[in-house]
Amino acid sequence: MIDFELSPEEKTTIEAAHKFAEEFMRPISRYYDEHEHEEPEEFIQKSMGLRSQGGVFGLGVAAALRVEEYCWGDAGLMLAMPGPGLGGAAVFASGTREQIERFLKRYGEDKPCWGAMAMTEPHCGSDTAAINTTAVREDNEWVINGEKIFVTAGKRAMEKSNGLTVVWATVDKTAGRAGMKPFVVEAGTPGVKVEKQEKKLGIRASDTVTLVFDNCRIPFDNILGSPEVRKVDKTDTSGFKKAMATFDATRPIIAAMAIGVARAALDFVKETLEKEGVKIRYGLPRQKLTALERDVMEMESQYKAAKMLMLRAVWMMSQFQPNNLESSMAKVKAGLAATRITQKAVEILGPLGYSRKYLVEKWMRDAKINDIFEGTGQINMLVVARRILDFTREQLK
Ligand SMILES: Cc1cc2nc3c(=O)[nH]c(=O)nc-3n(C[C@H](O)[C@H](O)[C@H](O)COP(=O)(O)OP(=O)(O)OC[C@H]3O[C@@H](n4cnc5c(N)ncnc54)[C@H](O)[C@@H]3O)c2cc1C
Repeated sequence: MIDFELSPEEKTTIEAAHKFAEEFMRPISRYYDEHEHEEPEEFIQKSMGLRSQGGVFGLGVAAALRVEEYCWGDAGLMLAMPGPGLGGAAVFASGTREQIERFLKRYGEDKPCWGAMAMTEPHCGSDTAAINTTAVREDNEWVINGEKIFVTAGKRAMEKSNGLTVVWATVDKTAGRAGMKPFVVEAGTPGVKVEKQEKKLGIRASDTVTLVFDNCRIPFDNILGSPEVRKVDKTDTSGFKKAMATFDATRPIIAAMAIGVARAALDFVKETLEKEGVKIRYGLPRQKLTALERDVMEMESQYKAAKMLMLRAVWMMSQFQPNNLESSMAKVKAGLAATRITQKAVEILGPLGYSRKYLVEKWMRDAKINDIFEGTGQINMLVVARRILDFTREQLK
């Protein structure tokens, strides 16, 4: 039985997240959108105080609902909050118990630190199996060489003390997917350069960078999971499967982000209409509704459908149930719903929606990323289609 019921403590953390979003994120939202690479120092310090109430930790239903609240506040700032991020999810999905303890304990301590995950390379993003970054064993170390682009939180994770980045590299290119392995590179490790900070359309408070690895040496036991590559067994895609397991954990959280942005726009539209004396008449037959009422109801139904799919995917994860299909479904739906809802909000509000006086135009820009990172909408639709139709990767490309 699926159960989304929250404990009183969990409800309190979600309320605290909403209050934080309202008091500390919304007021600085425009500023950090316009000052893209400026560090929100005060905000980072304030968000450290949230750790006792869950902060950005966790992978369950309550954690996802907190993410929704923070992104209702500001999705870019949410990504700037200290925490394990995508790197933490990769450690969790691929690491041993000892590694999870060693690498994730720091996020519960008093100093702010970040985690990032570096998969995408200049020549490949969707086709993750094509990565060229290499990790070569030399005595008791791995030597990493390559370039990773569009790494979220990569600057903070590599330059601020105690941060870490999970870097996907191949230990044997001839082994294909079986050769892909995740490695933990700690902040300050020689041989890593933060080369470029992206200028972006949306989520501009989040840092997105290129990382260059030039003979970067890390300890042997920073490989997550086993170093073994079983080339003889063509079906062994264990390294690749770990990458996919990471996505199964992170896609529902991206869906929660999208849902938060969508709700920000939806709430603003409804409040504005109410102020203008426009009432949405629920319960009437469709032919009696105005076009505007139908639009708002459509936005609400898109929001709710996306949220239900997201909740199911995170709930399954919290129960340790395989959720590959559900997490991709949630991600596709939420990415599309948030894109549509925020565009519709701009459309309904007309010049108010387009003006920088309000945040609606920003939410429209922020929403789109959810349909791009952690697997684009098209790639997640492929995953869903393969699962439902029972096709292999080779049969349906
Ligand atoms: C702001 C931002 C933050 C990011 N953060 C991270 C991060 O932290 N870590 C990280 O590793 N990466 C990150 N990325 C990279 C992101 O995950 C990739 O951009 C994404 O996976 C798409 O890969 P690509 O850019 O190579 O596009 P491509 O794979 O070249 O895709 C281009 C277009 O073709 C479509 N397409 C590709 N293959 C198919 C197919 N088989 N069928 C149908 N359509 C297809 C795609 O859907 C897309 O529309 C980030 C990107 C951005 C913009």
